[in-house]
Amino acid sequence: MPVTPFHVGPGSLVKVLLREKFSLTIFAFAQIVIDLQPLAAMLGADIEVHGFTHTYLGATLVGAISGIFGKPLCEQGLRLWNRDMSLSKSHPLWHFPEKISWLIVISSALIGTYSHVLLDCIMHAEIQPFYPLAAENALFGLVEMDELHKLCAYAGLAGFICYFGIGYLLSVTANRQRG
Ligand SMILES: [Zn+2]
Repeated sequence: MPVTPFHVGPGSLVKVLLREKFSLTIFAFAQIVIDLQPLAAMLGADIEVHGFTHTYLGATLVGAISGIFGKPLCEQGLRLWNRDMSLSKSHPLWHFPEKISWLIVISSALIGTYSHVLLDCIMHAEIQPFYPLAAENALFGLVEMDELHKLCAYAGLAGFICYFGIGYLLSVTANRQRG
């Protein structure tokens, strides 16, 4: 999918389910890294638009690379967010852990790249997710592109509301128990 932000929508639902065991920051970073190939192709590079990065084998490699480079970058980003954004000081919900364990880094990056390939398979006929074992893309056309974009956007909205809604309820309950 050339529109990377749509991929983050389903990721926010994963965040609702796994909360601190999943890094949406690393997940989002992996979406950018995996779409560098299509971006380069669109900018005129003489390479395939999707190609190897958009196979599950390639996505494994891209996930590992995203984790290795993404960990220091995302941790720095979270530190800056916690330090400089006034929102983070107004409520603990906006304050995020600055250290991400390697297990969470790698699992979040791989969830990111695998889900990316899965969604792109639905939209792009030429993707061969199981290369070099098979050339078929059985998911192509499963859902209309517009519908898929809408589903991703709704997932993002629902995830955002649920994550902060649940977090708010948890903090209220914790305060009551303390009080
Ligand atoms: Zn893509």
